Amino acid sequence: MFPRVILKGTMIKKSQQKKRTSPSNYKSRFFVLDTQDLKYSERRPGRKPLVKGCIKLNTIKCAEIVCTDVPIPCDFKYPFQVFHENHYLYIFAPDNDCRQRWVRALKEETKNNNLVAKYHPNFWMDGKWRCCQQTERLATGCHVYDPVGYASKKPLPLLPDPESEPEEGQRIVIALQDYTPIGVDDLPLQKDHEYVLINGSHADWWAVEDGVGNTGFVPSTYVALKYGNNFERFEWYNKNITRGEAEELLMKEGKEGAFMMRDSRQAGVYTVSVFTKAPGSNGEKNPRVKHYQIRQAETGEATYYLAEKYLFSTIPELIHYHQHNAAGLITRLRHPVSLDKRCSLDVSDILKDQWEVDPEELTLGRELGSGQFGLVLEGRWRETKVAVKMIREECMSDDDFKEEAKVMMKLSHSKLVQLYGVCTQRSPMCLVFEFMEKGCLSDYLRAKKGRISQDTMLGMCLDVSEGMAYLESSNFIHRDLAARNCLVSKNNEVKVSDFGMTRFVLDDQYTSSQCSKFPVKWSAPEVIRYSKFSSKSDVWSFGVLMWEVFTEGRLPYENRTNAEVVESLNSGLRLIKPRLAPDAVHQLMEWCWKEKPDDRPSFALLLHELASHTNL
Ligand code: ADP
Repeated sequence: MFPRVILKGTMIKKSQQKKRTSPSNYKSRFFVLDTQDLKYSERRPGRKPLVKGCIKLNTIKCAEIVCTDVPIPCDFKYPFQVFHENHYLYIFAPDNDCRQRWVRALKEETKNNNLVAKYHPNFWMDGKWRCCQQTERLATGCHVYDPVGYASKKPLPLLPDPESEPEEGQRIVIALQDYTPIGVDDLPLQKDHEYVLINGSHADWWAVEDGVGNTGFVPSTYVALKYGNNFERFEWYNKNITRGEAEELLMKEGKEGAFMMRDSRQAGVYTVSVFTKAPGSNGEKNPRVKHYQIRQAETGEATYYLAEKYLFSTIPELIHYHQHNAAGLITRLRHPVSLDKRCSLDVSDILKDQWEVDPEELTLGRELGSGQFGLVLEGRWRETKVAVKMIREECMSDDDFKEEAKVMMKLSHSKLVQLYGVCTQRSPMCLVFEFMEKGCLSDYLRAKKGRISQDTMLGMCLDVSEGMAYLESSNFIHRDLAARNCLVSKNNEVKVSDFGMTRFVLDDQYTSSQCSKFPVKWSAPEVIRYSKFSSKSDVWSFGVLMWEVFTEGRLPYENRTNAEVVESLNSGLRLIKPRLAPDAVHQLMEWCWKEKPDDRPSFALLLHELASHTNL
């Protein structure tokens, strides 16, 4: 029987360093997984690809993602491992979805092999395993290997999602292949049939409904969103626009990375037009608009691409990717421009005065610190001392933020760090906040170690719960509550800061729960598993914050990696009671860490409980 191709695509491979002395290097290779082998070849323009390696599937003992904190020295940042015979092959995928697809397919094809019972979740590096520090390359693994990988990663049962975008009409997916359920809450799929997408927020499992009203989970890689050629709901799409009109509109917008997708003259083909001020190499005029046709590879699951290496199954996925990564384009796609949007901008101009800070009124002083978005400076605005966050352009999705700033400015409470306004006329853009003399809570706790009474600690938690109860009642989700995101005032009041800001971070390392900078140790299980944020996931983080307060600023799960934390949470383990926490406070923490969001208290209730334990 001929082997059947399962997956193919370009990824980066690290040399296997079979000899201890050989240097490590990273090479782009074209991988093909079929029912017999995993092959990789070198692509040579105009010539036949040269096969560089072939791994028989029956020699594979483990295929799993690599969880690591080390910087990855190649363009593709999502590593996974294939352990075969006595070799570890490290492969780097361009994004998490692609990595999951490969790992899942490899697991599926090798599940009946003679597999390892345990594997190493981190890299073999500099003569030892980064996960368990063992110095023998072939030492037994330190984590239980899950040969199926489906069951354990399934999301929690569906909950109504107040955050989900209101969609006009239903979202339809098409089955790419048949799927036979492996769990009781799965739904069978029939190739080419359509299903209604109920929840597509989890990376691996989507909830869908079939034509007769049955609902259940299906692997997200077995279906594709049916966009057809209907991109109208995307703000980056302009249907009836010529190349000349596109250029005019983008030049008028004049912002680096202003872009749109439009129909090409060639029917059925789309073009992405991007504005750039970057100097061209061939004496092109500057600034200018560059046009890239969206191309389609002939075969394979993911076919759309703009820059050769990065293939996607749908155009919206392709655009989304390039909104975060230039990856071969002259610039990342930063600001969607459309004819409709220009009309709505006029409306926002009317509101502008309410939140725009006049640069003339703002003076900047010494540096206070630096954060995710750039430097934080002390400043003065209208006779008031303020903190000014200077936003580095590449760190923030600033157009989205400007919209949201209007909402955030309306949130006003004595236990929230007030946003006074935004100064967009200065470059970089800056955000003007209430000044908090004593800096962030985590540093404050550490600096005052041994000198904070239990009553004061309780008072700190009470302050935060007050601010959070207000956010909860405003239906606003913080998403990154932690001691580092609370600030301390001159009179030792604690206030909640940075609420909602993670939505505007452009660094993937912060935003994907699989990545090194994601605050896994503060995140509720449903956030880690399928990015389900809610006030109840904030409550989980608040439990961790209480723990930070009562340990005087210790790092939660100090010596454990994110992967280890996830594993112990999954098996029901929780942070241990801080020595200084009264039993009643510890019980509140445990209540915040209930597995099911509904079983956790609301902030209103927490506030009530905490207040009843203080003498305030
Ligand atoms: P980011 O949100 O960009 O990550 P942070 O909020 O973490 O930035 O701020 C970085 C540092 O700047 C803080 O640790 C704190 O020392 C200082 N800082 C931030 N906001 C204020 C403020 N409102 N008042 C005083 N200092 C502040």
